[in-house]
Amino acid sequence: MSIDFTMPPQVLELRDRVRAFIHEEIEPAESRMQKTGQWREGIIELRRKARQRGLWLPHMPPEFGGLGLGPLGIAMISAECGRNRLAPFLVNCQAPDEGNMHTLLHFATPAQKEKYLGPLCEGRVRSCFAMTEPEVAGSDPTQIQTHAEKQGDNWVINGHKWFISGAHGAKFAIVIARTDPDADPPQARNSAFIVDLPNPGFEIVRDIDTMAGRGNHCEIRFNNCVVPADAMLGPRGQGHTLGQVRLGPARLAHCMRWIGNAEVALEMMLKRAMERQVQVGKLIDKQAIQFKISESVMELYQSKLMVLHSAYLIENKLPFRQEVSMAKHHVANTLWRIVDRAIQIHGALGYSTDTPLESMLRHARSARLVDGADEVHMTQIARHAIEAYKRDGSTRAATGGVDLL
Ligand SMILES: Cc1cc2nc3c(=O)[nH]c(=O)nc-3n(C[C@H](O)[C@H](O)[C@H](O)COP(=O)(O)OP(=O)(O)OC[C@H]3O[C@@H](n4cnc5c(N)ncnc54)[C@H](O)[C@@H]3O)c2cc1C
Repeated sequence: MSIDFTMPPQVLELRDRVRAFIHEEIEPAESRMQKTGQWREGIIELRRKARQRGLWLPHMPPEFGGLGLGPLGIAMISAECGRNRLAPFLVNCQAPDEGNMHTLLHFATPAQKEKYLGPLCEGRVRSCFAMTEPEVAGSDPTQIQTHAEKQGDNWVINGHKWFISGAHGAKFAIVIARTDPDADPPQARNSAFIVDLPNPGFEIVRDIDTMAGRGNHCEIRFNNCVVPADAMLGPRGQGHTLGQVRLGPARLAHCMRWIGNAEVALEMMLKRAMERQVQVGKLIDKQAIQFKISESVMELYQSKLMVLHSAYLIENKLPFRQEVSMAKHHVANTLWRIVDRAIQIHGALGYSTDTPLESMLRHARSARLVDGADEVHMTQIARHAIEAYKRDGSTRAATGGVDLL
């Protein structure tokens, strides 16, 4: 298979405009907001400017006010946005709304699109996605206990979820609940619902304290939460499929932002090593430091290729699950290692809160858990390799299907 990562000139031009927006508008505004504490006003103004500069909604089609980029273009723009923690929200392609937009685009009825997708794309509302539960393994959604019972024309949802990002302030939640407990296969037991918020049956128990502080990752209880029949999203019993369809591109979107993050850490690593004087020279002259840099450079390069290849497969409607799993695992671990090396090269300064590195490291830890923990992806990757070997007597199809030999 040949792979063509050539970006159209308009995508390259858009990437440059996102870069300029970060330097010219976001970074100065961020310093001002840090001093004044006026985040809300500042962010509203920056979102207005993002629209004015034609950067709004890179991942959505024009009929929803988006820029209509394909997965390769999105990869480039999201990676650029990943260089600044506010940028994804400012152009309205932040998690979990971005994944929810894709889900609604794919599964929603015209009426649901008008009611939920329109306002989400316009940036008038936020949303959340509620699947994971504390009592059962999030890695195995067939165990979901939250259930929905049909009562007359309505569904009544009861259950317990946690780590629901963005729940505080969300205008609606996409909820995965069990509707068909006896269905076989177990993947057909769950359905998805859209729950309007606030709702008397939707209780936010707490904003969970995490190692990266409170990030609006909430514990939720559904207490006899009543929703109408037309709140079901996609066909009955398709909750699992919906989660899978959602997670493919959403996983990749995370990877793209992590690449931007990792690049910032690598640049900080180089800057510090070039400036820092040690015995006989600068840190950058030491081979031990150069090895940390070269390992990071190689891993970041691999990350970019893996993400671009996965995006290429999605764009060309080719099977992509194996490649997305490999990219997700690789980029999450690369981010962790590069930020860790950058801290090491900064010495005590890296351990302090005077640079963004410590915060980047604490946030990076979740990358190895969200959208499928490392081990889950590794199990999938090995399964594909075993299948390919049994079928073809070769692992070629499981290693990107790239023709080298
Ligand atoms: C910051 C953050 C934000 C999140 N946002 C959301 C959200 O918005 N909505 C939502 O629904 N969920 C969200 N989650 C939850 C996330 O999707 C789950 O944490 C993830 O799916 C893993 O589920 P779990 O935590 O129940 O871990 P478990 O499924 O209990 O797994 C625990 C560990 O066991 C190992 N493991 C699991 N399965 C296997 C296996 N088959 N083989 C070998 N080892 C295995 C892995 O090491 C894994 O880390 C978020 C989590 C975090 C940290």
